[in-house]
Amino acid sequence: MLFLDELGEFAPAVLDGLRQPLEEGVIRLARARASASLPARFLLVAATNPCPCGGGAPGVCECDDGARLRYLRRLSGPLLDRFDLRVGVERPTVDDLLATGGGEPTVVVAQRVAAARRASLDRIGIMPSEIPPSRLDELAPLDPAARVRLREHLESDQLTGRGYHRVRRVARTLADLDGAAELVADEHVVMAMQMRVRLSVSSRVRAA
Ligand SMILES: [Zn+2]
Repeated sequence: MLFLDELGEFAPAVLDGLRQPLEEGVIRLARARASASLPARFLLVAATNPCPCGGGAPGVCECDDGARLRYLRRLSGPLLDRFDLRVGVERPTVDDLLATGGGEPTVVVAQRVAAARRASLDRIGIMPSEIPPSRLDELAPLDPAARVRLREHLESDQLTGRGYHRVRRVARTLADLDGAAELVADEHVVMAMQMRVRLSVSSRVRAA
């Protein structure tokens, strides 16, 4: 696993260099006399603030629109598009910080994940994340409502072609977690789309 904290602080060339390994699972090196392909299949996790000053509560941000735009532009659309899950994290409230316990124990979640992985291996022999685009209809078929919804997201430009394939794989994963063996249902697609938020500040800046 590769964890990049403060993703927006990395040089654009570094971030662009991640695209190929993320897409193909290999790094290709070409020098004058030789070239090589090295295996590079990894899980990328990244965190970023929405702006250089760290944002904080609404209205507290000290950055002007130009600074925010420059920061977000570094996280180019093509790079963000390659993240299967994009989740917004709110600043915790004082009550959240003071609360103890609650939540599901990690060991219980781990068992659920292991069961979903086994279900996928038993059914199709691979993980949903490994399904090539050409075999999605065969290995991760959609129910009619899910198909209609994805078409609408594509037609309204809320999804790119690459994003479409990724959403389908995430939806298949959610269906496995749900114990749904046959078709990927509309609710799985809805949830997969909800786990793919756009950067909220970028839309705010665009709207300004
Ligand atoms: Zn700021």
